[in-house]
Amino acid sequence: MSLQDKIRSIPDYPKQGIVFRDITTLFQDPDGLKECADQITAAVAGWNLDAVAGIEARGFITGAPVAMTLGLGFIPIRKKGKLPAATYEEEYALEYGTDQVEIHRDGIKAGQRVLVVDDLIATGGTAMAGAKLIERAQGTVAGFSFIIDLPDLGGCKRLRDAGYRTHCLMEFAGG
Ligand code: AMP
Repeated sequence: MSLQDKIRSIPDYPKQGIVFRDITTLFQDPDGLKECADQITAAVAGWNLDAVAGIEARGFITGAPVAMTLGLGFIPIRKKGKLPAATYEEEYALEYGTDQVEIHRDGIKAGQRVLVVDDLIATGGTAMAGAKLIERAQGTVAGFSFIIDLPDLGGCKRLRDAGYRTHCLMEFAGG
């Protein structure tokens, strides 16, 4: 069974017309969890990384094993109001309204090359906000890694057009 076959697709969740790509079925499988971290680690091996950042919450599950395998530290990018020390904040657009993510101001040492990880990229709004946070904290975005790309929504293209390196383990057509 391929990694892609271990992702569960749930139609009309969280609302009509969205197919939710559920990684819990991939991660509850011991081989799936390990293989996912191993494949991401292999893909970014030449990226000269100093740290891994993950976007709450599925970016934590995806990114922390990658950081450990690479022998690097892990930096959480969290939803507003969750980080206890001084933070930088970025707002980004959702389909309806906006959301905010934060990073600790001292989360990154100046000039560190950071890999940004999330489970899935759709429009790229969340990832772009993550990149801005890394840069405001004086880090360099060395690239992005996602398990799943939804290419029809254009997020990876948006990141590449902005000059960022991206890697995805698999693609699903549609939104
Ligand atoms: P975006 O900012 O549009 O790239 O959306 C990416 C974020 O929304 C990621 O953190 C994903 O976990 C979540 N997301 C968006 N679309 C889906 C989907 N079809 N299935 C699962 N998660 C999704």
